[in-house]
Amino acid sequence: MSGSALVFNAGSSSIKYELIDTTSHGVLASGLCERVGRPDTVLHHHVGDERFDRPVAADGHTAAVQAVLDAFAEHGPDLASAGIVGVGHRVVMGGPDLYAPVVVTDDVLAAIDALAPLAPLHNPANAAAIRVARKLLIDVPHVAVFDTAFFHDLPTAAARYAISPAFAAEHAIRRYGFHGISHEYVSRTVTRHLTGDDAVAARGLRQIVLHLGNGASASAVVGGRPLETSMGLTPLEGLVMGTRSGDIDPAVAFYLHREVGMEIDAIDHLLNYDSGLVGLAGTNDVRDIQARITDGDPVARAAMDIYVHRLVKYIGAYAAVMGGVDALSFTAGVGENDADLRAEVCAPLGFLGIEIDPARNAAPAGAGRGLPAGSPQVISPPAAEVTVLVVATREEQSIARQVVAVLS
Ligand code: ADP
Repeated sequence: MSGSALVFNAGSSSIKYELIDTTSHGVLASGLCERVGRPDTVLHHHVGDERFDRPVAADGHTAAVQAVLDAFAEHGPDLASAGIVGVGHRVVMGGPDLYAPVVVTDDVLAAIDALAPLAPLHNPANAAAIRVARKLLIDVPHVAVFDTAFFHDLPTAAARYAISPAFAAEHAIRRYGFHGISHEYVSRTVTRHLTGDDAVAARGLRQIVLHLGNGASASAVVGGRPLETSMGLTPLEGLVMGTRSGDIDPAVAFYLHREVGMEIDAIDHLLNYDSGLVGLAGTNDVRDIQARITDGDPVARAAMDIYVHRLVKYIGAYAAVMGGVDALSFTAGVGENDADLRAEVCAPLGFLGIEIDPARNAAPAGAGRGLPAGSPQVISPPAAEVTVLVVATREEQSIARQVVAVLS
């Protein structure tokens, strides 16, 4: 299906977008609308090497999506002649029933709305962007691609919590997993890189993928199928993140409510927004934390120790779940850019055959999101038992591919 796909990735306060050629997979234009819903909303539109910045009216997702279309009209490419075959939307939570990419209808939109209680930070923003985009881009199909989809078929033992099955089913409580679009893209890219094709099911390659951005998650993938992932009912479970605590004894919440008098919303906010690296070190920017470590700041050092310890623990657990590991990949803002972090995580893992080559590890540093899509960089020595890689995640490209798959 030749032409292009327009992909939206809407968050509560930002909208990322890309126009992607469906044949070459090249990015024809991309952009980011930041601070959506605030008075200082701004749009950055990229075409080739050029970047255009424009202020946006402050009335939320409607204005933001309109501004994206205005940016295309003014700076190109012309959407009317771009041959858009479909518009793809990242939807964070698909719940128990929505997992395959699906053409958006009023019923699908209602189902996404209905999942808001399970993903209050994400699904309302996703639905708002879809609603506006459907009104403004009326002649093309819109496709929802779910971030939980890749983990829909997690083995039961990994997907379930140790609570009554009837109670869990009644309330749709399970481990859904998130960042699935990225874990799927990265694991498939690594498989192709190491085995030369996409026939993942036949290969049995045992992979651990670490998606380390502001949100962070790990997955264990064998033969292209996930066996484990670190996020659960919500994206709060698992690794230490920019602002989220990750794993914490649930009794901390009971204690804070009963003994400290905090209301549920305040505890929710504490664990989702004021914890993780922000809680530990006062910032979620790992660059700042590393700079402070270089300056001898013990608070920053302790924060990074906790961050790294959690990662090492998960890698060990996932190696055990898979009966070994063949490939370990780092992706997203921290994973792609921070060579020191990668070195620290791998240092204690020699017993698993995980080692890195310092020169190779340093090489991609700083390239970050600029790493060409689909070209993983191997940072382990040639003879290492486990191949360690840095992979630029390309969620938008994965969504575009799924849009085309659904429509054809
Ligand atoms: P999001 O989850 O918002 O998509 P990204 O994957 O873009 O996040 O990652 C954003 C994070 O990446 C920043 O908060 C920052 O901590 C980290 N980061 C970006 N560049 C670097 C770098 N050079 N070194 C270390 N961390 C970096």
